[in-house]
Amino acid sequence: MKKGLTFVYAVHGNLYINLTNKCPCACTFCIRRNGDGAYGSDSLWLEREPTVEEVLAAVAEFSPDSYGDIVFCGYGEPMERADDVAFIGKELKNRYNKKIRLNTNGLGDRINGRSVASLLEGAVDVVSVSLNAGCSAEYNKVTRPKWEDGFDVMLAFAEDCKKYVPQVMFTVVDVISKEEIEKCRALSEKMDIPLRVRPYDS
Ligand code: SF4
Repeated sequence: MKKGLTFVYAVHGNLYINLTNKCPCACTFCIRRNGDGAYGSDSLWLEREPTVEEVLAAVAEFSPDSYGDIVFCGYGEPMERADDVAFIGKELKNRYNKKIRLNTNGLGDRINGRSVASLLEGAVDVVSVSLNAGCSAEYNKVTRPKWEDGFDVMLAFAEDCKKYVPQVMFTVVDVISKEEIEKCRALSEKMDIPLRVRPYDS
C-alpha cells in the first residue's frame, strides 16, 4: 500500500477533504478494497493525519472558487475527527461561499461516545449518511461495523442531524438488490429523509 499526504483532492469538479483513514466499518463495496486512491487521485492512504491548519492551507491552494462543493469524505470516516470537522467546516464557511457536505457512515455518536450532530450546526450544509441497507441484519452484512447495533446508531444520528443541518440525505450504492433498495426507499420516506441511489463508480 502506497501512502502519501493527500489531504485535499479534486474529483468531478468538487473538492474532497481526506481527514483520516480510520473507520469502524469494512463495507463490502468500499473503494479502499480496490486500490489506493479515488477516481484518479493520488494515494489517499495517509502517512499521518493532517492538522486542521494543513487542511485549510491545502484547500486554499486549490482556489476553491473554481470548484463546486467542498466535501468531507476521505479514505475513512470523517467523524472520527468530529471536532475537527466542525472547526474546519465553520472556517471554510467564513472564508468561502461554498456548500459544505459531510459524507458519513453515521456512526459518529458511537465513535465519539457522545452525540455529535449538534457540532455540525453552522459547519456543514448537507449531511449525506450511508444507509446501505433497509434493516439491521442486512446492514451488518454489507457494512460490517464494529458494533452489532450500528444500524440503529446510524438512523438516530441521521434523525438528530435534521435539527442542526439544512439538508440531510441517505445514500445507497446500487450494488445491493432491488428489493433492498425498495426497503431503503420505504425507510427514507418514513423518516422523511431523501434517498439517493448512487452508482458504484460515482
Ligand atoms: S464506511 Fe466508508 S470508508 Fe468505511 S469501510 Fe465503509 S465505504 Fe469504506
